[in-house]
Amino acid sequence: MAEYVAPLKDMKFVLEHVVGLDQVNQLPGWQDLTADVVEAILEEAGKLAGEVLSPLNATGDRAGARYKDGEVTMPAGFKEAYRQYIHAGWNNILSPTDFGGQGLPHLVATPVEEMWGAANLAFKLCPMLTQGAIEAIHHVGPDELRQRFLPKMVSGEWTGTMNLTEPQAGSDLSQVRTKATPQADGTYRLKGQKIFITYGEHDYTENIIHLVLARIDGAPEGVKGISLFVVPKFVLNADGSPGPRNDVKCVSIEHKLGIHASPTAVMVYGEQEGAVGYLVGEAHRGLEYMFIMMNAARLSVGLEGVAISERAYQRALAWSRERLQGRPVGASGGARTAPIVQHPDVKRMLLTMKSLTEAMRALAYWTSALLDRARHHQDEAERKRCQGLVDLLIPVVKGWSTENGIEIASLGIQVHGGMGFIEETGAAQHLRDARITTIYEGTTGIQANDLVGRKVGREGGRTAFALIEQMEAVVKELGAHKNVHLASIGDRFSSAIARLREATQWIVETYPHNPAAVAAGSVYYLKLMGITCGGWMMARSALIAATQMEAGGADGAFLRGKLLTARFYGDHILSQAMGLCAATMRGADSVLAIEDALL
Ligand SMILES: Cc1cc2nc3c(=O)[nH]c(=O)nc-3n(C[C@H](O)[C@H](O)[C@H](O)COP(=O)(O)OP(=O)(O)OC[C@H]3O[C@@H](n4cnc5c(N)ncnc54)[C@H](O)[C@@H]3O)c2cc1C
Repeated sequence: MAEYVAPLKDMKFVLEHVVGLDQVNQLPGWQDLTADVVEAILEEAGKLAGEVLSPLNATGDRAGARYKDGEVTMPAGFKEAYRQYIHAGWNNILSPTDFGGQGLPHLVATPVEEMWGAANLAFKLCPMLTQGAIEAIHHVGPDELRQRFLPKMVSGEWTGTMNLTEPQAGSDLSQVRTKATPQADGTYRLKGQKIFITYGEHDYTENIIHLVLARIDGAPEGVKGISLFVVPKFVLNADGSPGPRNDVKCVSIEHKLGIHASPTAVMVYGEQEGAVGYLVGEAHRGLEYMFIMMNAARLSVGLEGVAISERAYQRALAWSRERLQGRPVGASGGARTAPIVQHPDVKRMLLTMKSLTEAMRALAYWTSALLDRARHHQDEAERKRCQGLVDLLIPVVKGWSTENGIEIASLGIQVHGGMGFIEETGAAQHLRDARITTIYEGTTGIQANDLVGRKVGREGGRTAFALIEQMEAVVKELGAHKNVHLASIGDRFSSAIARLREATQWIVETYPHNPAAVAAGSVYYLKLMGITCGGWMMARSALIAATQMEAGGADGAFLRGKLLTARFYGDHILSQAMGLCAATMRGADSVLAIEDALL
């Protein structure tokens, strides 16, 4: 298998038919983004992804980022690829227009970002983190910081990082200890250590702008005492150019299971007089600001699950067509040289990969469209409705898609047989790279806590039940068709929805008096919601495909593929809803009964 090929046709189908590009491009400022314009954007992105970033994926994995004396050298070709990437303006498609960005909708940026993640996950992380830092500075300011830092960050001349984690503060950021001491000139001096900082040091650009969580001297303990600071690697001169070196340095980078070309830095602030930092927004509200940014960041990481799955699927499919082994079941006589794609079990693996990837993609894109509507719709009630759905779905997209990404990358290896275990085929890299996605930006356990607690338990399941009702309407539509595949999908989908309703009701009733029981099954519930929402997307996709086929749609084979993939999803994936529902509701007794000492 050569390089990644962007699945443009699939992306276009989802954008135009399943999630409603035509609704997003009616929002103010985006009327020019017609389907043709979006198609042209995706085609261009697909070229860079396939021709420039994808060829560097394996070489970057082998060479890795290299550390020496406080500096990091990126693998051969990465710096030039970054130059091409920013030269073409890809880094600023989501950035604010008032600082030189293109301000495109999330719905358009999402498939583009999927391509970067599929082509080269390690490369993609730098622009993603920069985008997060831009959003934070733009969102909470002050204006002076915006003017000084945003133009160069939006142009890609400087990159950004997110410095949250410390050795004792991982999932629980209330434990952050980095200190910030106010200075007479209004700046702060920061001292402390941050770990696991993605692209904390590299050789792409002349400056790196770190966003750092720290506690101002005398700040209260816990989450309410954390503030957000901008700390540039080089302090700026009066004319805005990089001046003297700040008191922040990268002391090492980690040796990791995957994403070898993404430097993961240990950063030390204030070994001498303290690193110069500028307060972003108001004091003590840093964590709150990070949470505002988190929806987009978690959506991005969820999308990494989709991206890796697509890449692993493409590689496995190509292999299955070339590898000759055995005879198809039921065939007698003849040569034993069937391509393995003909074996039913190999088909099952490929269809598992394909159908889950399609379901996850549609759900991630749909959530992106909701994010756009939540931010830009003219009607306040609609903005609120969409924001509620975004809040509910983000942990699902993040947790479910990344957990699936690992399973799908692993299935990709299985399809390759022994050669999948050998690095040469490239299948193993996808599994190694995918493994981090369920950990950073909040582990799956943290996403599931968020889902069952803040998003379902505390609001009495209001948004979840509204979503379930929306899904039930599609079951009715499926029932109105005579198509045998749609009938089967409708059947499986309707029982998955019933299980989701049952588990949601149980959470709403149990959470107030026994949150630990709910926490014990929270990941199962997250997966149940993921496969059911994914089923909704697949049901919609099947309905559209069947309707277009009946109308004599031009691309019959493509549409038939969509219909049958959705049918597979119903039979093989939605049928898991029963087990997930039972584990959600009945799994707690054993978990909570056993003492820690017995583990
Ligand atoms: C390659 C890489 C890149 C990273 N990039 C960045 C970056 O750029 N910036 C940054 O700030 N950080 C970054 N991180 C840090 C990352 O976000 C954390 O590793 C992650 O949030 C988990 O924290 P932890 O490692 O301390 O694990 P822990 O918090 O110790 O978690 C260990 C286990 O306990 C579980 N757990 C913990 N608390 C709870 C709870 N309340 N309920 C249920 N389960 C719980 C977790 O789910 C997990 O399974 C990166 C990490 C890596 C490995």
